[in-house]
Amino acid sequence: MTHTRTRFAPSPTGFIHLGNIRSALYPWAFARSTGGDFILRIEDTDVGRSTQAAVDVILEGMAWLGLDHDEGPFYQMQRMDRYKEVLLQLQAKGFVYPCYMGVEELDALRERQMAAKEKPRYDGTWRPAPGKVLPPIPSGVAPVLRFMTPQDGVVAWDDKVKGRVEFQNNELDDLVIARPAQAGEAVGTPTYNFCVVVDDIDMAITHVIRGDDHVNNTPRQIHIFRALGAEPPVYAHLPTVLNEQGEKLSKRNGAKPVTQYAKEGFLPDAMVNYLARLGWSHGDDEIFSRAQFLEWFSLDHLGKSAAQFDDAKLRWVNAQHLKAMPGSALAPLVAAHLAERALPTDARLERLCDLLKDRCDTTVALADWVSRFYTDASPDAASLAQHVTDAVRPALRALAQALQDCAWDKASIAAAIKQVLLDTGLKMPQLAMPVRLLVLGTVQTPSLDAVLELLPREKVLSLLSGA
Ligand code: GLU
Repeated sequence: MTHTRTRFAPSPTGFIHLGNIRSALYPWAFARSTGGDFILRIEDTDVGRSTQAAVDVILEGMAWLGLDHDEGPFYQMQRMDRYKEVLLQLQAKGFVYPCYMGVEELDALRERQMAAKEKPRYDGTWRPAPGKVLPPIPSGVAPVLRFMTPQDGVVAWDDKVKGRVEFQNNELDDLVIARPAQAGEAVGTPTYNFCVVVDDIDMAITHVIRGDDHVNNTPRQIHIFRALGAEPPVYAHLPTVLNEQGEKLSKRNGAKPVTQYAKEGFLPDAMVNYLARLGWSHGDDEIFSRAQFLEWFSLDHLGKSAAQFDDAKLRWVNAQHLKAMPGSALAPLVAAHLAERALPTDARLERLCDLLKDRCDTTVALADWVSRFYTDASPDAASLAQHVTDAVRPALRALAQALQDCAWDKASIAAAIKQVLLDTGLKMPQLAMPVRLLVLGTVQTPSLDAVLELLPREKVLSLLSGA
């Protein structure tokens, strides 16, 4: 098999969201699972809309998700000289011609075509042909350069997602591949489709895996590849990711920047797992590790229909990964959230993570839980009145007494609780609810002995005897 090379080529014109990053995940996974290379290219030629902040989100988001690249990031704006050089080569080969049709003329042409219910397209006025007389060149007009698209036949490719895709060449007009040259320039600024092809050739890309909003660019790009004497890569056009309302996921309708998920306590491996399933499957497997994903991934099981983002499912996947992680791995993540809240941590943290992880779907939720062990509980008055009654106060004091000298471990604490229940005739919940409320501020906690063991004895004693 050839050495595979894939790329992710985002435009930094908005903050990349989950739909965009899935277009990074698959080429990354394909390169990793085939022992190939993954290249990062920033397509920043839309100077007016590209921002450094958006580039930062791309780099941070990919680093967070562990989508490491082997080459790049390459910035298209830094490669302009190269594009112009190749443009001149293409021109020398006779695939390019100057077109002097001005904006007004183009608009008028478009209106005539629309009125005649035709597809608006450039009509080839300036395309040279044997025996054809071109219009006189207007003075003072810098021409655009157009690519001479073949006029007959079809252009087709075997898409790894869509299967065979075919376009009639007579439906493609002659694409503008360079804007008008400015004074002193040998050639004007090359346009998007041309730059992409030069990059894909120079970067020796073997597989282009990208969103299907680019399907209409592909026939044009294939023609440019061939004109430059290069074989087009294999293409896989991924279906759109929809939001929960069924609209295309976009910043405008609420998609969050990828990096926001880190702040909200999602785990990189869970995100990779969730995103992988948005358009790819391995049987019925829903929960898998990064290593399993890379072992299983291939371009043969990409879904054909649009995938829909589902926040509840993402949370569920995250919860499964969280549960499977040992406290030692969760502790540093939780410590970071606690540090943001100016809360200290100590040696209890790992065990707290192990105790509480089953009831949390994010590390932020876990930090919320853990923080109860590092702060004073503030139970609400109504709950106190309900659970800490005169009938149980003596039992609370008795428990404080029994816990005073016992070993501070789960078994000894359990034995003390049992003894108090025996002595007072109370049922477990009658004693456990008020204790939970007093020490953690809520009655819904893991088992009481496990909770108390991870609280300082002095604190427990004073809360029980002072109730
Ligand atoms: N820059 C394009 C985009 O962000 C991707 C181009 C490509 O993958 O060929 O949609």
